[in-house]
This record gives sequence, C-alpha cells and structure tokens, in this order.
Amino acid sequence: MNQSTSLSGNMIVFSGELKLMGLLKHSLPASVTLWQVDRVDRLRQCVEENLEGGILVLDATWIDCLPRDVQLELVEQIRNRRCETWLVATPEMAENLFALWSAHVTLLIWPLVTAQIRYQLERFAQQKHDASGESKLQLNAPEKRVKPATILLVDDYEPSLKALSQLLEQEYEVVAFTESPKALEWLKDHSADLILLDILMPVLSGYEFKKLLSRDARLKDIPVIFMSALDEANDESKGLGLGAVDYITKPFSMAVVMARVARQLEVRRLAEALISETLTDGLTGLLNRRGFEMKAQSLLQSAGRTDTQITVAMIDIDHFKAYNDHYGHPKGDVCLKQVANALAKVFHRDTDCVARWGGEEFVGLFFDTDHSGSQRVGRAIVQGVRELQLPHEGLSGDEIVTVSAGLVTQDAPKDTEALDVLLELADKQLYRAKEEGRDRYASASVTESRIPVLKSAL
Ligand code: GH3
Ligand code: MG
Ligand code: MG
Repeated sequence: MNQSTSLSGNMIVFSGELKLMGLLKHSLPASVTLWQVDRVDRLRQCVEENLEGGILVLDATWIDCLPRDVQLELVEQIRNRRCETWLVATPEMAENLFALWSAHVTLLIWPLVTAQIRYQLERFAQQKHDASGESKLQLNAPEKRVKPATILLVDDYEPSLKALSQLLEQEYEVVAFTESPKALEWLKDHSADLILLDILMPVLSGYEFKKLLSRDARLKDIPVIFMSALDEANDESKGLGLGAVDYITKPFSMAVVMARVARQLEVRRLAEALISETLTDGLTGLLNRRGFEMKAQSLLQSAGRTDTQITVAMIDIDHFKAYNDHYGHPKGDVCLKQVANALAKVFHRDTDCVARWGGEEFVGLFFDTDHSGSQRVGRAIVQGVRELQLPHEGLSGDEIVTVSAGLVTQDAPKDTEALDVLLELADKQLYRAKEEGRDRYASASVTESRIPVLKSAL
C-alpha cells in the first residue's frame, strides 16, 4: 500500500480459520490492529466498541453456523453502523448467504482471497483518504461527474459472475447475464463500453458470441475480454485471433481483472477521442463529411429496422462569396459558425444528424417525418438563419445572411446505398431553391420503388 493511502484502525475478524488470519496479517500495514473473535456475543460487542472507521471481516463458514435470526440481528447491527464489511466465502457458500448478506457486505471469494484483500484494502484506504479531503475538494472545484463506463458481463457460473459484478460495480455500471443469448438480446437495444465474456457456456459459447458481435456494424468495435480456465491454454490464441483485446485465465486475481478492465477502457477512450477528432469539423464543431457518413450509416441501419421515413436536407449559404469579399475571410468564418449553431438548433433530436458538408454547405438527416413535416423543417431552417439577423452589406441593400435548402423525403430504404441517391436528389432541390430566388427551401418526396428509376435518371 502506498504512503498517501496508509490505513490505521482496527480490523475485527470473525473466524477461526488460520489460513485467513495468516493472509490478513500478511496483507495489513502495521498501523492496523487485528482482532480475532470466534463467539457471536463477543463479535457484537467488538463491533459496537472497536469498529469506528475500521473493517469487519466475516468468515462465511462461521456465519453459516449461526441461526437465521442471529444472522438477521448481525445484518441489522452492521447496517446501522454502516461499517466496511467483507464476507469471505467459497462460491457455493456465497450462493447460500447471498440473499441475506449481499446488500451489506463486499464478497471475497476463495480461492481468490489474497488479491481481493489487497485490492479492497487499497480501495478502502483511498476512500478514507478522499473523504478526509472532501471539503477542500468541493470548495476548490465543482464536482466533475463523468458517466461511468458500462461493462457487460457474461458467465454461466453464477458465483463467479456475482463476485465479478460486485467488484466492478464499485467503479462501473455493470450489466450481468448467466445466459449468453439473453446478453445478446440485451445488446439489441443497448450498448456497452467493454464485454467480459466467459468462453465455455451452454447454447452460445463465448467464441460464437464474439463472432456474432463481429458481424454487427454497431457492436463489432466493442472491446471483448475473454475469461477462461487455465487448462484451456490454447484458447488464448484462438480468442485473440477472433479479435478479443485481452484474455484472462481463471482463477483470476481481482486486482488483475480491475487493472486490465481499466486499461482497455482507457484504450477505448483514447481511440474514441481520436476518432471523434477526425470526424468533427474544426471550425463549426459540427460533424464533418466523414462524420456525417458514419453517423448516417448507423442511423439508417436503425431506421431500416423500424421502417421510418427519412429526410435528407442540403443547405447552402446564399451569396457567401460576396460576404467574404465584403467582410473578409475571418468574419466569414464567424458567420459560418453562427449559421452552424442555428442549424444545430433545428436538428436537435438524438436521431437527427447535421454536418458541415464542405465550404458554406451543410447537410442534415432526420427521421419519422412525412413530406409535410419535412416542409416544416425546411421552413425552420430558413427561418432559423434569418432570425440571426446577420447583416450582409455585400449585397445590394441592407440585407441579411440567408440560406437555401433542398429536402427530399422517402420511406426507409433497405439498402444504405440509397443515401447517395437521397443526397443527390436533395442537391437538385437545393439547386431549385437557388433558381427560384434563394432564402427559401424546395422539397420533394420519393418512394423506395422509385429510387432505382431516379438513380438511373441522375
Ligand atoms: P450561392 O448563393 O449561389 O450559393 O452563392 P455563393 O457565393 O454562396 O456560392 P459560391 O460557391 O460562389 O461561393 C462560396 C464561397 O464560400 C466561396 C468561399 O470563399 C466561401 N467559403 C468556403 N469555405 C469557407 C470557409 O471555411 N470560410 C470562409 N470564410 N469562407 C468559405
Ligand atoms: Mg452559397
Ligand atoms: Mg456553395
């Protein structure tokens, strides 16, 4: 344990198990006093008198011998004192005691106890350290809440699943399944930042599960860590060959699991930051053309599933060359940003998408709107930019900056190739809006059946 997280106080252990006492003695810093009790009345007295700020360790073998009403009393006492309590159990025993104890204790499972003790001590010391500096932190900096990463755990062996869940829940959002098909079902409507996947499972093995993920564009990039028993050593290369990012052998040390999970999440975070940078337009902060294409593909896939209408809008600032000529390029940039903000307000739903297509052109995509609805959006685009009231003195009189837009709406296409066609059709409508005098939108509606015809006519 490092200096900054040193721990002091009492640890009370309810056990007669020499091995456990030996492990604890070995792991504890000298500043912690270890008390061993093996009678329940003495235990309760010790908890009352000596546990302030310390840790209580309960050996499941000892707890299991107590009548249920005595166990209930103990649970109540622990709950009232809100003390840090660990229950050390074999997987089978943990299952027996789980219903009564799980909400009030941290489970430490044999034979992984050594590493778990070390990890839990570190965590508890860090927690106390953080708590002591709490007021200072709050005064100096507003609390920064980052959404915890979501980890999907799939393991058909329930005790192992529970122990892992409990460990990971301390830092992450954990969703756990013992049946792999159910996990796959869950992934239809959700996503995860990392998947921990057991290999040997009935119905759908870890390998089969990973293969199915790899075939799904939305899920294929979620990092997967395989977990498997030591005697399946060959599995490691097979797992990594299937695209897993790491491989953990059972029985695993909890500290190792935590470290590897944290490392993979960090790798993913960095990769995402890099990707988001390459997909974002530096001037306006909107998606760039590549970003639009990627987001549009994934939105179109979901739209295809639910058969919704799709509308593509191409938007172009009117007489922008004259604006630049009159005000200069830097002011032109400011104007582009303001127009981008106005458009972002129009395309504000989660399933909307707006991007800078290039130059002074923008593109939008939205769903679930019929032709008359998309005409309302067309009006909102033109009106939203007008309302900025940005002077455009480069034109004849005291005019303002305006845009023209072209929109095309159709029912859900079954092939994503149709996006190209929709973009070209929206561009034709934009051309029409320009021809008809600018500062307006033009729109059209097409049905899927007409797409091939329209495509050949382009
Ligand atoms: P129209 O109404 O027909 O669209 O006329 P327009 O002048 O807007 O069209 P044109 O395509 O002739 O000119 C587009 C101008 O947009 C030319 C270019 O200087 C300007 N532009 C493109 N990208 C940027 C940019 O990043 N910053 C600035 N300030 N101007 C840009
Ligand atoms: Mg223009
Ligand atoms: Mg243009």
